[in-house]
Amino acid sequence: AVQKNLRITEQLEAWVNDNKGHAVLGTTAQYIPALGKVDPGKLGICMIDEDGNYYCAGDTDVEFTLQSISKALTFVALSHHYGLEFVLERVDVEPTGEAFNSIVPFEIHRPNKPFNPFINAGAITISSLLPGQNAQKKFAYLKGFLEELLGHPLEIDKEVYDSEWATSHRNRALAYYLKEAKFLELEVEEALDIYISQCSIKVSVKDLALLGLILAYDGYNPITKVKHFSEEIAQVTKVLMVTCGMYNSSGNFAAHVGIPAKSGVSGGIMGAVPPKLHSQTYEFRAGAGIGVYGPAIDVQGNSAAGTMMLRQISKEWDLSIF
Ligand code: GLN
Repeated sequence: AVQKNLRITEQLEAWVNDNKGHAVLGTTAQYIPALGKVDPGKLGICMIDEDGNYYCAGDTDVEFTLQSISKALTFVALSHHYGLEFVLERVDVEPTGEAFNSIVPFEIHRPNKPFNPFINAGAITISSLLPGQNAQKKFAYLKGFLEELLGHPLEIDKEVYDSEWATSHRNRALAYYLKEAKFLELEVEEALDIYISQCSIKVSVKDLALLGLILAYDGYNPITKVKHFSEEIAQVTKVLMVTCGMYNSSGNFAAHVGIPAKSGVSGGIMGAVPPKLHSQTYEFRAGAGIGVYGPAIDVQGNSAAGTMMLRQISKEWDLSIF
């Protein structure tokens, strides 16, 4: 086991070094000043297997915020509480091909519900529907749910939270459209508060890897043997990750990486590698969770170096689900 661990970690270390330079293909998220000013050159990865072994390389001690990765998790939390049917009646599962914060698919195409939970319109709607009588209680439900999955307390990055509030004009506009269409359960400012809070939750690549593993195992944590949510919820979440998880480059990511994944503008990526027992390669045949951090993002909003690194890893270790 020690040998295997060393071999995999060394390999990951090499791939981090191969791909670090790709950070120049992106920049940190300038539209949120607190994200804009972080070191763009960082790159780190953690993978976890079904036995709970972590394989980590590069810049893995940095904490960063969940951003859009939280959209996958609120979808799970809401579905777990009210059932999938309730959620799918209110938000669709159709990709848009537009930017994550676009108003176009919402206002111009006039759907009777937001296209999917991973564009901002769908995500803000989901946040407002979380169980609880007010914004604080709804966010507390979400945070508690995530803390249970991870097994440790979570905190908000206050600087990022304030920075987002100060610059969320577009999200506010979207929320007003949603309110007018009667999709929000709360007032605009309250729904935004939950959304911005969830985006500002601090995590590590290890956390993302564990969350990815639980999704890979259909809601089951193979280490603690706890079943957190249903297979159906995990399945639909992974479908969303494949079709919308990397925003409007999900098709490219599916073709070149082929791992259900969700990214955020902080540069994080959460990947769920389901078991693939017929695979010719030995590594991670029994599935894995992946957490990546590389804060320089491309025009679609995905970690530039992180995406390139995942391409290499998926190819070398035959991780594509397709
Ligand atoms: N908080 C960010 C926003 O709404 C999250 C976006 C993202 O990670 N794509 O703009």
